[in-house]
Amino acid sequence: MRLPNEPCADQAVDVLRALVRFDTSNPPGNETPAARYLADLLGPAGVETDVVESAPGRGNLIARLRGDGSAPPLLLMGHLDVVTADPLEWQHPPFAAEVHDGYVWGRGTTDMKNMVAACATVLLTLAESAAPLRRDVLFLATADEEHGGRLGMGWLTRQRPELFRVACALNEGGGEALRAGTRTFWTCQTAEKGVCRTVWTAHGPAGHASRPRADIATATLSRAIAALGDGHLTCRVSGTMATALGIMAEEISAERAEEVAAHLAAGRAEEALRAAGFDERGIEQARSLLYDTVSVTGLRSGDPESINVIAPTAVAYADGRLLPGQTDRDLLAAIRARIRDGLDVAIYRQQYSPALESPADHPILRTISGVIAERCGGARVVPWMTAGSTDAKHLVPLGVPVYGFVPAPYLADGAEGGGSHAVDERLWLEGLGFTVQVLYDVVYRFCCGE
Ligand SMILES: [Zn+2]
Repeated sequence: MRLPNEPCADQAVDVLRALVRFDTSNPPGNETPAARYLADLLGPAGVETDVVESAPGRGNLIARLRGDGSAPPLLLMGHLDVVTADPLEWQHPPFAAEVHDGYVWGRGTTDMKNMVAACATVLLTLAESAAPLRRDVLFLATADEEHGGRLGMGWLTRQRPELFRVACALNEGGGEALRAGTRTFWTCQTAEKGVCRTVWTAHGPAGHASRPRADIATATLSRAIAALGDGHLTCRVSGTMATALGIMAEEISAERAEEVAAHLAAGRAEEALRAAGFDERGIEQARSLLYDTVSVTGLRSGDPESINVIAPTAVAYADGRLLPGQTDRDLLAAIRARIRDGLDVAIYRQQYSPALESPADHPILRTISGVIAERCGGARVVPWMTAGSTDAKHLVPLGVPVYGFVPAPYLADGAEGGGSHAVDERLWLEGLGFTVQVLYDVVYRFCCGE
């Protein structure tokens, strides 16, 4: 029997390497063999397991370690699918899980088979040490996240709604060290920006290109894009970012915390970030978390074969990212106000999903803060936001608080290696030991009582 506080890092490495060797590139996904592998690993230790398919080959693992039922379950969630990888571009094959220079190389090593392996290791340790659980630990390793989760977490929420009566869920999306000046904080992701895609159409007189004028469609559209500037619309402060910047400033001084609050109240995002301790590079990276943003990603007008013809329409496609509390209508109004000219602005193919925000005062955050303070020399945890999108979108609308927390150690600049979705994706093996240990501490304390 293992000591209750010692998950085995080597075991997590073995599980990660086994998972990477299942090619779960989505499409087509083919997650079932990976889900079965986890079921075969966890079952003999006393974890209840079930693999359910949403479609042929699209397996989802449901694993549960029973507690005494005196508190609602904790959900650990991870996805088994990965984005595609072209082996010709990689230094080491993307599905071989080779170890070189202290890194395990392969697609999914950081997104997010590392967390799936850590969750499996935590469950095994709790089961083998007969930990006195007050709550069930439920682990869902699902299909199809990279394509929206319709055949994974989304499917489970529709088919098995009873699974989601839980206290909260731990997910991908946070848990990294965050540097602000000389200070290091750890993030716990409590919010995700929403997505709203738009299409802008300019109309103007068509005709012969030898007679130019200012009101043709391409000129109107160009002025609109120029008016958009750097794509940051209105500064808006979410609860998550106000709390985060407040904590960071407090670590400098009480006066600094007041300064940050005053900047935020006045909509001065960059000044608030600077006062919270960020340098210019950090400000550039965090800025979009305080604005609704729009990036024009596609343009269409005319035909190069008819270069002497003025086309009657010009169209721009723009990807928008929304802060919590903002709707598709708000974004359309903000774009129209910014670009002024008489363009038609509409939602592109109904591609709108609102931002998500979970409470920043949930008990799991206190547990996480306590563990990080102990393991990381008193460092503080800040709630944080991501501009990306995860399977949390299927759970938060059901009332499940979801927190992104894949604990990762602080790495010196340049040590990160290829990250999520990148060529040469790889994970620093010693970091995985930290991930497993911190995750274990959090799960143990939250589920067995302090
Ligand atoms: Zn992911």
